[in-house]
Amino acid sequence: MAINDLHRNSIELSVVVPMYNEVGNVSALVEALVAVLGPLETPYEIILVNDGSTDGTWQAIEEIATVHTVVRGICLSRNFGHQNAVFAGLNHATGQAIVSMDGDLQHPPELIPEMLAAWRDGYEIVETRRAEAVDTTLFKRMTSRLFYRMFSTLSGIPMSAGTSDFRLLDTGVAQAICAMNDSDLFLRGMAHWVGYKRMTFDYQAQRRHAGETKYSLVRMLRFASSSLISFSVIPLQIGIWVGLATSLIAFLELIYILVVYLRGGGVPGWASTITVISFMFGVLFIIVGVIGAYLGSIFETMKNRPRFLIRKDCGFRSDSESNES
Ligand code: UDP
Ligand code: MG
Repeated sequence: MAINDLHRNSIELSVVVPMYNEVGNVSALVEALVAVLGPLETPYEIILVNDGSTDGTWQAIEEIATVHTVVRGICLSRNFGHQNAVFAGLNHATGQAIVSMDGDLQHPPELIPEMLAAWRDGYEIVETRRAEAVDTTLFKRMTSRLFYRMFSTLSGIPMSAGTSDFRLLDTGVAQAICAMNDSDLFLRGMAHWVGYKRMTFDYQAQRRHAGETKYSLVRMLRFASSSLISFSVIPLQIGIWVGLATSLIAFLELIYILVVYLRGGGVPGWASTITVISFMFGVLFIIVGVIGAYLGSIFETMKNRPRFLIRKDCGFRSDSESNES
């Protein structure tokens, strides 16, 4: 439940930002947001979610919340991951429109007024698509494209490369997403799945303001596989097609062996038999692994644990001004 229910209807825009070890970005981001949102003269709030940082990010958030009354801070009990941190922010946002963005200034705050205008025109989801950042490596570009192609094919949800977690959701859509029971959050996919009236803006990603990316290769691979698993059951059906193909090959082989035998020849090829058997065992284990991954996902969903826990918060004062002049 939202802490700031008193203000639920008075705030028009909430900006939700997950922060994991972003001590060098807190103040720069808030100043940039205030500079863009202040002149709009609409009641807004900035919700900074500290995702178990170990570098003083929370202290920086507490400090900036005393300077800017529009800032609210949520301190999670540990690192729950980017998607869960955004989810925590969505759960506490009281605005009628909610923008989520990264805390490293890669998502330009200057785009928010245009997104807000689109929302006022009746679009319930305003997405953004990233033109490659100047410092994106070729490897990251290629793997990202491959992922989006695989995701679209397997899930049936068309999503173009560069779809980012910088988006505006109408509060009704945000509530619908928060009510979804997926074991692993993939907000980009969920925001597509729900439907609604949407539009997309393109933006040029900026360099990170300070600090380093929190997504290592291992983390990216884990995120990609859990996203695919929570949006598609097609990998589970691969076994059926592999099974059918190998059965057909085995059947043809059997006919070949029978013909050779009837002609009075010997049946050659121990080496090839062993190769085929070990290959098939490999395939079998991969399929068992895929089934295990889905089983794990069901197990996680069944446990029904909270997606995040809050240690403390700041700035959710009931007498706070909802806007700065
Ligand atoms: N983030 C987070 N928890 C994590 C990892 C990242 O809250 O476990 C935040 C991070 O502080 C940033 C955003 O998610 O605000 C995006 O992360 P990052 O910039 O490292 O990702 P990239 O832009 O490199 O894909
Ligand atoms: Mg970033």
